[in-house]
Amino acid sequence: MSAWFRLNLALLTARLVAAACNLFHYPGTSLPGVVALNVCPNAVNLMTPAYERVLAVTGTNGKTTTANLLAHFLRAAGRPVAHNAMGANMLPGVATALFQDRQFNGQPRSRIALLEVDEGSVGKVFAAARPELVIVTNYFRDQLDRYWEMERTIALLREAVAALPRATLVLNADDPLVVAVDQGRAQVRYFGVLKENRPVSENGIGQGAQRAVAADGGAGRQGCEPAATTGTASTCETREGRFCQRCGTALTYNYFHFGQLGDYFCSNCGFRRPELDYAAWGISENELLCMSVSIRDTSASAPDYDAASAVPLGGTVPLRKSKQQTAPDGERRELKLTAPLRGFFNVYNVLAATAAAKELGVSDKVIQFAARCYKPATGRMEDFEFAGRRCTLALIKNPVGANEVLKTLIQTGGAKALVIAINDLAADGRDVSWLWDADFACLADPSVGKVICAGLRAADFAVCLKYAGVPLERIEVAPERPASLRRLAAQQADKLYVLATYTNLFDYARLLGRLGSAVEQHAH
Ligand SMILES: [Zn+2]
Repeated sequence: MSAWFRLNLALLTARLVAAACNLFHYPGTSLPGVVALNVCPNAVNLMTPAYERVLAVTGTNGKTTTANLLAHFLRAAGRPVAHNAMGANMLPGVATALFQDRQFNGQPRSRIALLEVDEGSVGKVFAAARPELVIVTNYFRDQLDRYWEMERTIALLREAVAALPRATLVLNADDPLVVAVDQGRAQVRYFGVLKENRPVSENGIGQGAQRAVAADGGAGRQGCEPAATTGTASTCETREGRFCQRCGTALTYNYFHFGQLGDYFCSNCGFRRPELDYAAWGISENELLCMSVSIRDTSASAPDYDAASAVPLGGTVPLRKSKQQTAPDGERRELKLTAPLRGFFNVYNVLAATAAAKELGVSDKVIQFAARCYKPATGRMEDFEFAGRRCTLALIKNPVGANEVLKTLIQTGGAKALVIAINDLAADGRDVSWLWDADFACLADPSVGKVICAGLRAADFAVCLKYAGVPLERIEVAPERPASLRRLAAQQADKLYVLATYTNLFDYARLLGRLGSAVEQHAH
């Protein structure tokens, strides 16, 4: 059977399975790919060459938001994007998205394939799709039962990337675990976040010499105890990767942002945060996220994707050189961005998407415009109008991600009430021991009223809250989703929150949408 025939048979199969999923209201984000890959196992290898570009986003947290933002930027620049936007990020999910994008004449509808890839699936997906640009967000402990060792996950990425010698890597410089993937290749661009509200000049970027530890001890934005001078990480947050990836020495930090993210160096071997090509600073996060991105221009500029360069589908690919004046190598310029997103962690997502979009030649003004009108995906601090108040829905799945969500909500003024829904199904991660590593102690804050525990592990989570120091009279258990929301609606609070693990998320979104209404957020 010829490859062409097999692929088309697989395409037909994928369509039939997708139609059946639709008929039975089963989410068809992965199953069509599972079945079609049985018909044509190398379908992804066969489909990806038809795209102008293949891009991939991987890492622990922020993959979905980063990929969605980048897709949004590219579409605003007139480049249609095929994208596994529903979070099905293993090989079958990727295949499903590509099958969906394929027309019967064998051509894709889109010009760019943007693949969100599960950390455990980079081997299979990268080998099949051969992305030319890979974004790595961060590595935090996530679902230990699937990836019992972070080291193994990182080794897997290293191996997958080594097989793509021509790919450009867009890496989070603030994460020593991500930087270890670099391995001295030429095509690497780094993004990172500067010390709060200090411009590049005061952060010593661009000075090759080792920077002095800041006089104030260098505590980052969280105001943790100064860890920098001692070289031992502070204990107030989860820091997985605080050891040098080259020699194993404890890293010294000039400052932390969260998790192990920050400005670090190894006093033994010289491993350090690389110089930033894209540096975020001047960050303010209220209703809107505002930030400046300091961009280090390189003379080798990519072709410019501007709205004006958009061509009708089927037209020729305009690989014209940028008309923008490119600064000499090493010179920096500023790009101010505003996005309807909340939470400091989103700074990294906007930054990663911006870095990748710039590498692909998207113009500054398209990125600025697109960032302003971005709409967050389900459960990424998504707002609903519920019980006459604003109710924010957020996904939690690991300690670092949960801590960032908790911090963001504690910083918001007013009295708060929460539902926290914990499931332990396969997609959530069977092992819920991560709950004990997250900083739920901050819910003892006087601004927090009731915390309603829901989900399959509601009772275990209530115990966890008790040990975290949340007063007993504030803890309530209501495992069922509708009951938990009824209890939430009954609370006297200015702001309501629902934090949910993956398998609870979409049902809560649906319920909140039905009982209340989604609030459109736009930056104008
Ligand atoms: Zn070292």
